[in-house]
Amino acid sequence: MRYPIPGLSPARESNRRRILLIGLDGLRWDIAAEDHVGSTLKSLAEAGSFHEMTMEAPTISAPGWGSILTGSTHAQHGLKDNSCVGGRTWNRPDFLAQCFYQDQDTHTFAAAGWPVLVDPHGLGPIIHPRMEQQYAGLHRVIVRDGETFGYPVIDAEITDITLAALKSGSFDVGFTYCCDVDDAGHIHGLEGNHYRDAIKRVDAHVKALTDLISVRHETFAEDWLVVITTDHGHVDEGGHGGDTAREKESWVIAWSPDGYTPDWEKELRPEEITPLILREREA
Ligand SMILES: [Zn+2]
Repeated sequence: MRYPIPGLSPARESNRRRILLIGLDGLRWDIAAEDHVGSTLKSLAEAGSFHEMTMEAPTISAPGWGSILTGSTHAQHGLKDNSCVGGRTWNRPDFLAQCFYQDQDTHTFAAAGWPVLVDPHGLGPIIHPRMEQQYAGLHRVIVRDGETFGYPVIDAEITDITLAALKSGSFDVGFTYCCDVDDAGHIHGLEGNHYRDAIKRVDAHVKALTDLISVRHETFAEDWLVVITTDHGHVDEGGHGGDTAREKESWVIAWSPDGYTPDWEKELRPEEITPLILREREA
């Protein structure tokens, strides 16, 4: 059989919904929603469901992603800043690990250019390495360093690797992450073109990922749910960490190529994302 894309391969049979969580660091929705900025994100939000989310303070990336990725409050995971000192992430398995514990045939995948999320030699990682499952071919972790090499380049590479993993049908539940937008906000603030251009770059990555998932759905009748979210907002001058509404604001998009949307509340808390994903995985 010839498939529409070279290298596209069927995945292992599964009666569970497949999940891709796309993390877009520090992306403020009001700016993504401007004309010709986050065009893909807007159309996914319209076709799927859009949820507001309020992050806990301090609105810093490691505590924020810690809550989203492990289903924990700040009090539970103990992360206070990006040093991860005092954090209890080894006691709080990430959603990929939890999906594996739920069903031990689950193939999981994580790719990120921010080392705190994935690098066992860094300050985290919030995504558990799970070496036994890596040896068994059930878990794969892609580590890159956008802090050193720049997120415009590294996000593109992370996306390409995720696309390759999707093409080969190698995972059932995945996490992929971009940090270009947050970085642009810190360096240039949110006025002007830099922040918007970074959203456009990341929006194109989201388009490539969701287009490929649509092809998988059409070709192999696979059941997919894509969840897209961010870990905090930014003040207009660029920066976050405090407890203003602008810094605490986040959002969640849930989208499927077949039009399915989960019956999630209009407003979500960050620690609800992981249990909601697990519920979607119930066969
Ligand atoms: Zn962040």
